[in-house]
Amino acid sequence: MKLGIMGGTFDPVHFGHLSAAEAVKRSLDLSKVLFIPTGNPAHKRNKRVTEALLRYKMLEAALYDYTEFEISDVEIKRPGSTYAVDTLRELKKIFPKETRLFYIIGADVVAELDSWKEYEEDFKMCSFAAVLRPGYHKEKFLKDVEKMKALGADIFPVETAQVDISSSEIRKRVKEGLGIEKYVPKAVEKIIVKEDLYKN
Ligand code: ATP
Ligand code: MG
Repeated sequence: MKLGIMGGTFDPVHFGHLSAAEAVKRSLDLSKVLFIPTGNPAHKRNKRVTEALLRYKMLEAALYDYTEFEISDVEIKRPGSTYAVDTLRELKKIFPKETRLFYIIGADVVAELDSWKEYEEDFKMCSFAAVLRPGYHKEKFLKDVEKMKALGADIFPVETAQVDISSSEIRKRVKEGLGIEKYVPKAVEKIIVKEDLYKN
């Protein structure tokens, strides 16, 4: 079985995440994609991040209509800073040995893959599906992909329709009182309103 992993802060989850996962799933013929919200993101330590349970609830609501997308709480349950290497070790234990893991990452993450803790261990445990994001040049992206390949990563650039959305932009729009219906599923927007998120 080929299993996709979509890791992220998901603060909040948006159509960019969903469409990247759909495109990679189709392109690499994955059986399903497991969305894993990060617990305490090590690379966002000095930024304010919404509490894990709310990010999890928004993601759960967003995935409700997608039968082949699932959510995992492995990272939000693990104490301390979250590292992919610990998650991959856990997934290796849970899934049958013949399961191939494809970690889906955007262009921004490709560029910093070699800053991940024990990245060489990650490279042994999974392959990567890399997607371009608006704001990132294709030449630079492909160069980064080649660099990670040279470091030992099994990484595939996947062509997708680019969706110009980021969680940062959504948080900014909410703060400014602008609409976000084009960026997140209705159920996610409802939680943002109900929980009064991103207002300050
Ligand atoms: P923030 O602005 O808070 O960093 P984000 O939109 O980048 O949020 P993350 O949760 O940080 O979302 O990203 C999780 C994963 O999804 C990363 O691999 C990221 O590159 C990817 N990703 C996020 N948005 C897009 C998008 N619009 N298109 C493709 N990939 C995306
Ligand atoms: Mg990001």
